[in-house]
Amino acid sequence: MTVGNMDSAELFDAGKKGRGLRARKHLDAGDVVFSESSFSAVVFDSLVTKVCHSCFRQQADLHRCAQCKFAHYCDRTCQTACWSEHKHECGAIRKTGKAPSESVRLAARVLWRVHKDTGIVSDSQLISVDQLKDHVTDLPEEGLKQLQTDVLTFFAYWSHGRKQHSVEYISKLFGIIKCNGFTMSDQRGLQAVGVGLFPNLCLVNHDCWPNCTVILNHGNQSALSSALHSQSRIELRAVGKISEGEELTVSYVDFLNLSADRQKNLRESFHFECTCQHCSEKISDDLMTATAEKGGSKPSADKVKEIIALSKEYLEKIDIARIDRDYHKVVTLCCECLEKQENVLADTNLLKLRVFSITSEVLSFLRNFSEASDYARRMVEGYTKLCHPNNALLGMATMRAGVTHWHGGQIEAGHKFICKAYGILMVTHGPNHAITKDLESMRTQTELELKMFKEDDKKYQSMRDAALQITV
Ligand SMILES: [Zn+2]
Ligand SMILES: [Zn+2]
Ligand SMILES: [Zn+2]
Repeated sequence: MTVGNMDSAELFDAGKKGRGLRARKHLDAGDVVFSESSFSAVVFDSLVTKVCHSCFRQQADLHRCAQCKFAHYCDRTCQTACWSEHKHECGAIRKTGKAPSESVRLAARVLWRVHKDTGIVSDSQLISVDQLKDHVTDLPEEGLKQLQTDVLTFFAYWSHGRKQHSVEYISKLFGIIKCNGFTMSDQRGLQAVGVGLFPNLCLVNHDCWPNCTVILNHGNQSALSSALHSQSRIELRAVGKISEGEELTVSYVDFLNLSADRQKNLRESFHFECTCQHCSEKISDDLMTATAEKGGSKPSADKVKEIIALSKEYLEKIDIARIDRDYHKVVTLCCECLEKQENVLADTNLLKLRVFSITSEVLSFLRNFSEASDYARRMVEGYTKLCHPNNALLGMATMRAGVTHWHGGQIEAGHKFICKAYGILMVTHGPNHAITKDLESMRTQTELELKMFKEDDKKYQSMRDAALQITV
């Protein structure tokens, strides 16, 4: 695959939405519509010593740049690969004595690159960086204040560069980053670690029920043969069949929110009114707010109101306990909350699904897999009723259910979830992604264990217990 190949997509006038991209040929689920390297990207301020500034992998023992002592890298290969991007930054940090915030660093990196290569860095880039939407005029007062502060910091930092720019131009640049920046996750897809600008991706419009998904592939820089090396890049992947001429869409927000909340979020962060089919027809809102039904009887409206208010209070307390890393308290609060929700809210209710998700995550972290597996299963059952069958979040949740069941000793259910997750991730992440590769080896391992279990379950359990004792 060549990074930057745009044979499958083209720019078109998407009417009210402005510019858009559409398919130039028929596409199937899992097809890579295009892949693109970042124009510029930076690691978040909070993770500058924990994430490689070149490949965005999170790992221990990073080496820092001997000159600015700010940038961190896996090794020489990563440092060399990133030098042209870091060179000016390195000088500016040394002269100002300290690195500015992530948005200022990104704005400067973009501008240094614009100076070096102009706003277009490859033949397949469809739009110049400074032609992207900036929405500066749509910013609320708070946002404008932040922007002015950033611009001032920028000038102090950039003054060591060669060329000066107007306040308007730099403000526009910050606006572009704010509404087009793509959040980059670590190699396991578990934590947001940085933000980057991918010009072609910025042309893909939003739909709450999109036909594509975007995934960051960190590439392979560790293979012995350099012929097998690949660059870090985003991939736009089709999640279902797409006909020639159909508009390509991705979702800018998490689908697991009520349509009104998604619309509010999109209005505030991206400055448009979502009129997609799922929002206009409020599809799935009823399931996301559903109440439990037992033997044909429903809880009273007052009871439902009470439990909704209580759930929101609990979720706030749970958040605080999580920030304090008091995980046993998180579990206690979650169990109390679920007890109150039981028989009042349905398993597809978002308030219940959030608690399922946190409980299974924290219990797995505490290595209590047998209890975690039950919550993970109920979370996946709820997600399955709400999400597109090839939703990446559903895939990751299914993987978690597989791992907890497997580690909790439920090999049959574990293997089934792992196979299901593998099927989804083959579409959303592709066979070369690190997570898919992990899943593939888990699939092989659980298949083997399942075979042993079916042949002689007693022998299998005793072997398993012995193996667990060794690891404990
Ligand atoms: Zn690296
Ligand atoms: Zn440096
Ligand atoms: Zn929508």
